[in-house]
Amino acid sequence: MQKKYLIVGGVAGGASAAARLRRLGEDDQIIMFEKGPDVSFSNCCLPYHLSGKIKNAQDLILMDPDKFRGQYNIDARVNNEVLSIDRSQKEVEVKNLLSGEIYKESYDKLILSPGAKAIIPAIPGIEKANIFTIKNVVDIDKLNKFINKTKPSRITVIGGGFIGIEVMENLVEAGHKVSLIESLPQVLNQFDYEMVQILHKEIIDNGVELVVGDKVTAFDTDKVILQSGKEIISEVIVMSIGIVPETAIAKQAGLEIGKTGALKVDPNFLTNDPDIYAVGDAIEVYNTLTQDHFTLPLAGPALKQARSVADHIHGRTIQNTGYIGSSVVKIFNYNAASTGLNEKTLADLNIDYEWVEIIPKDKVGIMPDAEELNFKLIFEKPTGRVLGAQAIGRGNVDKRADVIATAIKFGATIEHLRDLELCYAPPFGTGKDAINYAGYVASNLLHGSFKQISMSKVRELVEQNAYILDVREMDEYEAGHIHNAVIIPLSELRDRYKEVPEDVPVYIHCRSGQRSYNAVLALQAKGYTQVYNVSGGFLGICAYEYFTDKTEARKPIVTDYNLE
Ligand code: FAD
Repeated sequence: MQKKYLIVGGVAGGASAAARLRRLGEDDQIIMFEKGPDVSFSNCCLPYHLSGKIKNAQDLILMDPDKFRGQYNIDARVNNEVLSIDRSQKEVEVKNLLSGEIYKESYDKLILSPGAKAIIPAIPGIEKANIFTIKNVVDIDKLNKFINKTKPSRITVIGGGFIGIEVMENLVEAGHKVSLIESLPQVLNQFDYEMVQILHKEIIDNGVELVVGDKVTAFDTDKVILQSGKEIISEVIVMSIGIVPETAIAKQAGLEIGKTGALKVDPNFLTNDPDIYAVGDAIEVYNTLTQDHFTLPLAGPALKQARSVADHIHGRTIQNTGYIGSSVVKIFNYNAASTGLNEKTLADLNIDYEWVEIIPKDKVGIMPDAEELNFKLIFEKPTGRVLGAQAIGRGNVDKRADVIATAIKFGATIEHLRDLELCYAPPFGTGKDAINYAGYVASNLLHGSFKQISMSKVRELVEQNAYILDVREMDEYEAGHIHNAVIIPLSELRDRYKEVPEDVPVYIHCRSGQRSYNAVLALQAKGYTQVYNVSGGFLGICAYEYFTDKTEARKPIVTDYNLE
């Protein structure tokens, strides 16, 4: 028997659900309502129109209503807003935004994929500023045209999440002067503070005025005023401080809202109404690691949830194994990927954890395009269960985060990482991949083979005049070293170890952490008990210190930075 399916929202989740429903039921009636003028556009590619990487705004649109009709027999109604849901009658009220006509449409099943809306806070003077948000093709086209017409002296992006970062990058690539304001002490909050410093450096190195830990308190004509008193002359403002789930019609219809403020759904993405499903940015999902609900406004989950809903409607079993949150972003010459939990999240949870930070090469070191890979692995103690990873570098980082994402989904431990068989040839990686290597370090740490401290603690150690041992070679030391560090190269340490005091803690570093680990083991073998490996080595320390040194005119703890 023919069924009638209505879908609210015609982009990621909505279009995906519609297409899958058609594939599973040739004769069913499928109507997709979209209040905007376009369906099925690539939200994720919107920022790339600003740099001209995607030249025509129209190229952002992947499918139009004619194609939906022709290829799928789907009735995609653009400029049609669903105003309300009448659950008892199983119908929705719709307004044709062009004609003003209001009409009703009945359903057997209703799928909500209305997304989320950008937050625009009520900051004093906001009416005086040229504020833009980016949610769809109309928005990006409007912003791009405005910029090209008015040629602003500076554009300020407010919010250092991944959309703000992508907008910033594309504006810079288009030749604009850009300021980026973030109220937290760091951009990209999915990363831990020490990891993100390398990105802070990349942002300022590309000429962006990056302000962190400060927030906008007022706008004036062509001016942004920050809490610190700092004023930024800027004729265009892009607001990307976050989103809120679009729940108005669902709330009005009595559908249950979860504690995050997003729609509550069961593992089959059913709301508390057995005929209404919801997916995408509008819902909250279950985090298998925190065992709690959270919102995960990303395209991948929305698309897959939509497909699952169509499957469920057609009686297929779906396996919702929960979510962990995986994402990747490009920042000028760097790529940054993360998955699972970070330390900030873990600090609020009752989970005992440990971390390793390593900086291996992403390919065989002698290959011309080999790059440093800043890799952080987080795991549970004492089980070794993998909880999260962050990978930042100029090369391939998403492979590493993806492998860890898969490992987490399958409940892997750090011991599993040691033996993972990953693809290798010199242009792609190393025989022991960063993932295997992180598994070894984590395993050694968990078994108590050595102790470590974070690169973020080194400044404190320098201030306390602690004993810091540099085991790099002399030429490396001379090119830049920590003030007060003692130099004994690893190649000489076994002959000179008696110079190292036994009665104080010894903090050992090399360039990236590997030689210092060997030095730690060598000293331990000689009876030293208070030896610590500085994770990330001199590379990590320099990357961690650089941004704050430069932006706060702080006295460096190093004679010179080594960042390559
Ligand atoms: P959307 O795709 O936003 O679709 C919802 C649609 O519903 C909207 O078009 C809206 O107009 C319509 N609608 C709402 N209410 C009604 C109503 N009452 N009647 C009719 N229509 C209605 N995710 C990633 O994973 N990777 C990325 O790189 C990435 N980059 C992004 C870049 C930008 C600039 C943006 C804005 C988002 C990005 N995202 C990215 C997030 C991703 O696009 C969203 O998570 C995804 O689109 C959510 O899908 P959805 O179907 O829930 O909502």
